Amino acid sequence: MSSPVSRSAWGARSPRGRTTVAWSRRTGFTVHYSAGPASQTPRRIQDFHMDGNGWADIGYNFLVDRSGTVYEGRGWTVAGAHAAPHNTSHIGVCFIGRDGDATPAAKASIRSLYDEACRRSGRTLARTWHGGLSGNSTECPGSDLRAWVRAGMPVGDGGGGGGAPAPSPGAGTLPGPRFDFPLPAGHYFGPASGPDQSVSGAFRRTFRGRTDREWLREWATQLGRRGWSVGRGRTHLARHGNDGVYGPEYRALARAFQRSQGLTVDGLIGRETWDEAFHAPVT
Ligand SMILES: [Zn+2]
Repeated sequence: MSSPVSRSAWGARSPRGRTTVAWSRRTGFTVHYSAGPASQTPRRIQDFHMDGNGWADIGYNFLVDRSGTVYEGRGWTVAGAHAAPHNTSHIGVCFIGRDGDATPAAKASIRSLYDEACRRSGRTLARTWHGGLSGNSTECPGSDLRAWVRAGMPVGDGGGGGGAPAPSPGAGTLPGPRFDFPLPAGHYFGPASGPDQSVSGAFRRTFRGRTDREWLREWATQLGRRGWSVGRGRTHLARHGNDGVYGPEYRALARAFQRSQGLTVDGLIGRETWDEAFHAPVT
């Protein structure tokens, strides 16, 4: 990766404060877009974040423009302001541009930042996009970058961008069929003691032509295809098997999977945890 344009080089203002983060606390990497015009500069974004939002500094850790030039934001070791409550755990990188504007060069630079973050942290960080994080309902970073992150941030011919069709998510890297999350918005697979949105399998409800039990079994089976049926999965689903009725075994399996993927660990299988099983590449 070519070295980022330093803060002084792009005329950054001094931050009003900063909180440093140990690499051991970093678990993820989040892609954003500015949704702005080509004339947008890091300094203009910083002014908006500091004067409009009242933040201590530009919100992102790094920024990347259409040409692939990388700009230093808060840098590697400072907590960002890009996707609460994930600012300590996730490094935020913003593509300066609109949906569909990200060129292969821009994607290659974002990927380089991700690889560098993994190298510095000594682990494989979760690849995430802003709207895919829990508690963050947003279009950011647009459908093109979202599909690209889901596909594992491929670079080279598979990178797409510049108006090219978005890559098929996870093509060639995912076992089994791909199912979209079958429950209505706000619903999740969870305990029977929960609210109506908590779908447990205990009441034999039907969604998209199949029962809740079939869908939950489908998710657990997919985890098995990803290598989770042996060892961890077998332990977690040993007592009653994969019967599709949400209980401690599914909860434990979901929690272990969420922890490994850098997701919010709550043991509930909502859209994010579902999609991670069916769309995120096996790492
Ligand atoms: Zn964002």
